[in-house]
Amino acid sequence: MVVQAAAAAADAGNQRVSNDFESLGVGGAFRRALGDKGYTQPTPIQTQAIPQLLQGKDLLGVAQTGTGKTAAFALPLLQRLDDENLRPKPRRPRALILAPTRELALQIHEELTSIGRYTKLRHAFIIGGVSQNPQIRSLAQGLDVLVATPGRLLDLASQRHVDLSEVSVLVLDEADRLLDMGFVRDVKRIVAQTPNSRQSLLFSATMPKEVAALARELLDDPVRVDVSPKEMTVNKIDQRVVMVDNAEKQRMLEHLLRDDDVSRAIVFTRTKHGANKVARKLENAGIGAEAIHGNKSQNARQRALQSFKNGDAWVLVATDIAARGIDIDAVSHVFNYELPHEPESYVHRIGRTARAGAAGAAWSLVDPSERGRLRAVERLIKFSPTLVPIELPPRDPAELTQASRQQPRGSARPPDSRRPGTQRRRRRRRPAA
Ligand code: AMP
Repeated sequence: MVVQAAAAAADAGNQRVSNDFESLGVGGAFRRALGDKGYTQPTPIQTQAIPQLLQGKDLLGVAQTGTGKTAAFALPLLQRLDDENLRPKPRRPRALILAPTRELALQIHEELTSIGRYTKLRHAFIIGGVSQNPQIRSLAQGLDVLVATPGRLLDLASQRHVDLSEVSVLVLDEADRLLDMGFVRDVKRIVAQTPNSRQSLLFSATMPKEVAALARELLDDPVRVDVSPKEMTVNKIDQRVVMVDNAEKQRMLEHLLRDDDVSRAIVFTRTKHGANKVARKLENAGIGAEAIHGNKSQNARQRALQSFKNGDAWVLVATDIAARGIDIDAVSHVFNYELPHEPESYVHRIGRTARAGAAGAAWSLVDPSERGRLRAVERLIKFSPTLVPIELPPRDPAELTQASRQQPRGSARPPDSRRPGTQRRRRRRRPAA
């Protein structure tokens, strides 16, 4: 009886999955895969984009990672290719997705793999920084969908390992970042190798005039779908600011990380060097941390991400570009060790938490010299994060001895702030929730 009731409830759940995505035109094989992934409701960008894309329209999507945009383009893309039921020819992919970073390319590929698991469609990714031979082999076997970063793709195209003349769907993901990273000429050269008759999609978190110009060049009478990151930011994420001098930021960060509410955190620094330094000091303080930035090899970046994903390190220290597009669930907190130069980056950074409807918190450590940047962020998000006064716990006695040795005479902290620390050291690894 109980079993039957449970089965009926599960059926009702499946029914709901079917109906919601079914009404958008998503077919059975894909709905089954969505059910496996636990996607019960389409996100706003999926509701708006999927029916239009299934009709073959071009699309301009203003949305950042975290909105469900990957599935919004992957579902109709795979479904159209599957319906056409054509065999891909060697070296001639039928669809191309361009992404600015290797991490994003890998993530898109993972999403394609899970969403397309009940089809026979073939896809692969080609990225720089790793051997090209396996990539050449998978191109030679014929691919339905190719996910690529621009540099390696052009490289392989010039060696005639890939021919883009049969691309019927082209997706540019994170177009603003593609342009920021200097890929504009590469992107145009790639687009020029695809047929004019293709369906084109462009996604961008922000819409500066360069991206708008590229969109005009690329898209034919596009549908525009706008999922405003500003609303998302303000509504879902608990944002706080702590005013703290640069010299005390590391200690403040460690103090905040020791709070039990923090289960998994990303810390943003402005520079690669800064990311390394902060991660090293966290490790020294017994807090499992990994740094990720553009100077690290592809393998080192994957290792760091993996260690963060599986919980060996529960803090990831990242620069903006490295973290863009990283999709890791259950990041409870984002910390801005410094505020970014561009206020838009603040929105991208804090969007790493509160993914797919979850709650999240974002703390910014702001030195008095960063007040101007804080105001720029507030103007952009039309909101002032809560200012929280936090007193740092007294220093560790061992640290103090060391500090007083290093500090010039007269600059030591007043004696009453030097009581022996009672601060709890946290385990290197967080227990499973
Ligand atoms: P994206 O914006 O594509 O990076 O997606 C952000 C996160 O949302 C990813 O972890 C997806 O797996 C997840 N996601 C996408 N669509 C849905 C959905 N309909 N329901 C629940 N989670 C989703």
